[in-house]
Amino acid sequence: MTSPAYDPNNIFAKILKGEIPSVKLYEDDDTLAFMDVMPQATGHLLVIPKTGSRNLLDADPAVLVKLIPVVQKLANAAKQAFEADGVFVAQFNEAAAGQTVYHLHFHVIPRHEGVPLKP
Ligand code: ADP
Repeated sequence: MTSPAYDPNNIFAKILKGEIPSVKLYEDDDTLAFMDVMPQATGHLLVIPKTGSRNLLDADPAVLVKLIPVVQKLANAAKQAFEADGVFVAQFNEAAAGQTVYHLHFHVIPRHEGVPLKP
């Protein structure tokens, strides 16, 4: 089954255009990172490309080459900043897999031993 086309009016596209606010953590020419508005744990952040990909399934590999090192950098930074024991990194593709915002994003969530994620 083919995926629907990228919707340029999704929430993260609006954040990129400055139409809705976000707590920005990192930005370069290709990438933006900001705090998740409904964090599943303290320090939950999101990393997105500035180009419009619906999710990983339709992403240009050239975009991923720039995005993944930022995910790695911020996962290490979040682990250190929040003195975490580990870091959960995830992304969902389509509603059946839990995706609710249709602009490619990676969740970066610091994790502490014995502390469950918030639902
Ligand atoms: P899920 O909602 O199941 O986690 P996604 O992987 O699509 O599915 O994640 C979308 C994420 O975007 C959620 O963690 C949600 O809290 C977050 N989010 C939604 N709106 C905003 C916003 N305006 N600013 C920051 N994060 C947001």
